[in-house]
Amino acid sequence: MSNSKNHIQSDLLGKALVEVGIMSEERIEVKFNTPYILQQNGASCKDHESIFISNGNINVEGRAESHTDLLFVPTTDNGNFTLADVTIGKNFHWEQKELQTFSGALRIIMEDNQLTAINIVPVEEYLTSVISSEMSATSSIELLKAHAVISRSWLLSQITNKNRKKTTASGMTETEEEIIKWYDREDHINFDVCADDHCQRYQGITRASTKTVREAIEATKGLVLMCDDEICDARFSKSCGGVSETFENCWEDSPHKYLVKVIDNADCHDKLAEDLSIEANAEQWIRSEPKSFCNTTDKEILSQVLNSYDQETPDFYRWKVEYSQEEISDLIRRKSGIDFGDILDIVPMERGVSGRLVKMKIVGSKRTLTIGKELEIRKILSESHLYSSAFVIDKEGDGIPLKFTLTGAGWGHGVGLCQIGAAVMAAKGYSYKDILFHYYKNCTIDENYGNKI
Ligand SMILES: [Zn+2]
Ligand SMILES: [Zn+2]
Repeated sequence: MSNSKNHIQSDLLGKALVEVGIMSEERIEVKFNTPYILQQNGASCKDHESIFISNGNINVEGRAESHTDLLFVPTTDNGNFTLADVTIGKNFHWEQKELQTFSGALRIIMEDNQLTAINIVPVEEYLTSVISSEMSATSSIELLKAHAVISRSWLLSQITNKNRKKTTASGMTETEEEIIKWYDREDHINFDVCADDHCQRYQGITRASTKTVREAIEATKGLVLMCDDEICDARFSKSCGGVSETFENCWEDSPHKYLVKVIDNADCHDKLAEDLSIEANAEQWIRSEPKSFCNTTDKEILSQVLNSYDQETPDFYRWKVEYSQEEISDLIRRKSGIDFGDILDIVPMERGVSGRLVKMKIVGSKRTLTIGKELEIRKILSESHLYSSAFVIDKEGDGIPLKFTLTGAGWGHGVGLCQIGAAVMAAKGYSYKDILFHYYKNCTIDENYGNKI
């Protein structure tokens, strides 16, 4: 297994390949549904093989030899295999194990005294599976095409940027007065992406792909977003709240030319939204319901982007959360690990271009501290995650406030494409290119990624 890969591998037919980490267990049971061989020695596989670790090597039940890694390759087109006990929804309340079926090759390696199964599969097949499980079957074709280009760009930027100087995964600055933290996704070392929500959820060919998704993948085959000869790390969130945020206000302080402020309406203009980093403007913006692509209550459009659970809470464009003094002081103490005493005030200190708070001061009877960036603010002010950090604060009561009301805008970090806005654009007849160029600035859509890498 090479750890220094910074290019895209391809198979004998020149198809770009991705290595997806599927599961880690002490023993892995594989059912080969079509003929496969073990590439190390050319031996034909049995219908069912059981793989385990013994004396620090990988062994296959009933075979004498042992290896440091195994590569099983199909000998026919449409080769596929099934893995037992794949954990899905890892660390979520609905975590469960199931049989999953994958096409392409299977590599087994050792990591931390466990076996890791890696599926090596053509990029376009991987994308078909990912988008079929992420998007609703009712999604319109232009929305799916936009998502196909985003997912492909994200994936290929992960693979090609791996060993370049890359954005760091997290950072923190801490003084007596201020703790500023931000978190990004950690890279994988031994494969390109995992099959969980940490990367993009991938279930191989376990469930049938949707016809419209296959059409969207085919129609955008090989297309990626490029900026200055690099594949874009195409971020997206549920709803920008009317204006999208810049990369550096959420993660590392390194501006990305394509992840800049976008006013989310047809003419990209709104006088009120001109400078939302000014408190008075942000206040007026968040307390109003300006017209924008993601300002919609159309159930048919929302069902294309949100699963049914999410549709039960459709107040994402403008929302309200209320806490009593008791609730908020307890919440902040538990979530931050710091006892502020009674919460006397929550003061906006710095806002990004979308009105999202980058820094916020918590004034307590025992302690006063400024915290950031947006994800940290959202974590501390909610049991799960606050919808967004674009909010204003109202207090009630003289002296120690009895109640805090947060009035907010948007859902998610707000950087890059706004999914609900994109679904509305597609419904209004915009093409996937219109949608991508609306949300990602200074970009091109490159038609031949293979030649750029
Ligand atoms: Zn991952
Ligand atoms: Zn939006």
